[in-house]
Amino acid sequence: MVAAPAESVAPAPVRLADAEVACGSADALAACGTTEDPRVHQGDPPLPGSVDDVYQRCRDLGMRLSRQRRMVLDLLWAERDHLSARDIFEKLNDLGRNIGHTSVYQNLEALQSAGVIECLDRANGRLYGYRADPHSHLTCSETGTIQDLDVVLPEALVRQIEELTGFAIESYTLHLTGRPRR
Ligand SMILES: [Zn+2]
Repeated sequence: MVAAPAESVAPAPVRLADAEVACGSADALAACGTTEDPRVHQGDPPLPGSVDDVYQRCRDLGMRLSRQRRMVLDLLWAERDHLSARDIFEKLNDLGRNIGHTSVYQNLEALQSAGVIECLDRANGRLYGYRADPHSHLTCSETGTIQDLDVVLPEALVRQIEELTGFAIESYTLHLTGRPRR
């Protein structure tokens, strides 16, 4: 019997088993045992930087940096979490900031449509985060909390996906769900 030519062999399923995972925070990064730049395979997007970089980005985009807009950005950068408009409104009011719910909502919409902050559409509403660069998320199935992760897929896996789909992969976001290991 003649062996089938290589082209007719079904492609192997895409597996993530060898994915290197680097975590967002410095502590988590240390826990993962890597100090390498985790974004080298994601097309080197800009690092999150600082809130001042985001102010500058707004100016470059011709966006007005009103007091309210800076309040919203400052809070997102201080919290480094994924928050609803209501969470943001309540946290700002708890801090004694004088800002209305409508203003919070309008600023969040303007910032996310300019690509300055991230916006996640969830079943129970939108959540906003400080990072606008491509990154992955781990959702806790017990508490619903979402943490940012920088997941770097092995180069070979990205090439395999490109061959399967005929697309040149430019960025990716993985949505992972799990519970704390006890
Ligand atoms: Zn995020």
